[in-house]
Amino acid sequence: MAAAMLNAFGGDGGELSQGDRALLGRRAVSMGSAYRLFYERPVHFVRGEGVWLFDPEGRPYLDAYNNVACVGHCHPRVVAAVARQAAVLNTHTRYLTEGVVAYAERLTSLFPAGLDNVMFACTGSEANDLAIRIAKTFTGRRGFVVTELAYHGGTEAVAAMSPSLGRAVPVGQHVRLAPAPDSHNIPRDEMASTFARGVRAAIADLERHGVPPAALLVDTIFASDGIFADPAGFLGEAVEAIHEAGGLFIADEVQAGFGRTGDRMWGFERHEVSPDLVTLGKPMGAGYPLSGVVARPEVIEAFGSRSRYFNTFGGSPVACAAGQAVLDVIEDDGLLANAQRVGTLFREALGHLFRRHEIIADVRGAGLFIGVEVAAAGAAPRSAVLAAAIVNGMRERGVLISSTGPRGDVLKIRPPLVFSEPDVAYFIERLQSVLEGLA
Ligand code: PMP
Repeated sequence: MAAAMLNAFGGDGGELSQGDRALLGRRAVSMGSAYRLFYERPVHFVRGEGVWLFDPEGRPYLDAYNNVACVGHCHPRVVAAVARQAAVLNTHTRYLTEGVVAYAERLTSLFPAGLDNVMFACTGSEANDLAIRIAKTFTGRRGFVVTELAYHGGTEAVAAMSPSLGRAVPVGQHVRLAPAPDSHNIPRDEMASTFARGVRAAIADLERHGVPPAALLVDTIFASDGIFADPAGFLGEAVEAIHEAGGLFIADEVQAGFGRTGDRMWGFERHEVSPDLVTLGKPMGAGYPLSGVVARPEVIEAFGSRSRYFNTFGGSPVACAAGQAVLDVIEDDGLLANAQRVGTLFREALGHLFRRHEIIADVRGAGLFIGVEVAAAGAAPRSAVLAAAIVNGMRERGVLISSTGPRGDVLKIRPPLVFSEPDVAYFIERLQSVLEGLA
């Protein structure tokens, strides 16, 4: 099952309120048929605050899904920073402005030495699209290796490297797929070598077809592949393989970046690898569109000497004010340590709860990016049906999660980084009620 098909509303809205049915109808007429809504009964939100979202009746939903609002919904410091800057100046990177330079300096200082340049864009797709162009220019090659169910974005170039979009969206002829590092089925001590073997085979196949690899592009938490985090370090051998083949390593940190995985700011740091290019997005502006590509200066130089770069909104003064405020909150409120601490006890609580029910579950992840692969202990229902029942049962009880993975049987739990111990207790209590309902 393609990840794109998971947790998608497919009914006629018959069970919704009259107001929501009308909104659903207007949405279909004005926005067309390519969009998907989450849940069997879609949710309508009018307000957000911290880890909570509220529907028109004021009913609260605990948000255990949205990583963009990494510092919590509508964080007052982000809102104030955006409003303050919007009232003073909002132009673009073709004028000298202090804010963009200060933000670039601060952001690059958060990366290992060598990754000293950053270029700004607005979405994760744009960042990956730019990284692909840079990698092609630097290496003079056009081949790419990605994982089997990767999602890297929606532009023409990036969709061709996003097999999770499904069979109807063809993977490029210059793209090869490597099996994802499935920690549920691969023994821990074989993860690094097994993943690297798949990457080497993909590289060899590209070379055989006369399209040597420009880069290995990997989401460092493997979100759409099913969420694979451990053992930390397993990426190393695959990165060595692409470097030996003369290609670059692009770490897609759109999901894992900005403290999501807990102990470190970036997902690639857990694996102690050195990317040549890093792409950033989603949480970077906590909802204000802001993304970027971080790279070694000589890599950018190869691109910049041949091509100029400009992105009208990327790195605008307001975007950079949002980015600064996000970093302020992450640092001042100790959100990395919080993600590490709360994430660990969250996974433990999930493990306990599932063990008490007739459900076999692999609870995995890092920090506050948690995957729970579920399977019923008896025969039926199928694991994907079970996962969907849990996702929708949680929604009915006012908690937001989703599902992912090749079979759609991995619960995807990825709350704002401000998620607290009481939030975990609330989540577990609701999940218990869902599981009891299923039994
Ligand atoms: N890379 C990864 C790993 C993603 O998960 C996504 C979005 N889900 C993207 C890139 C694309 O980001 P955007 O939707 O901002 O274009």
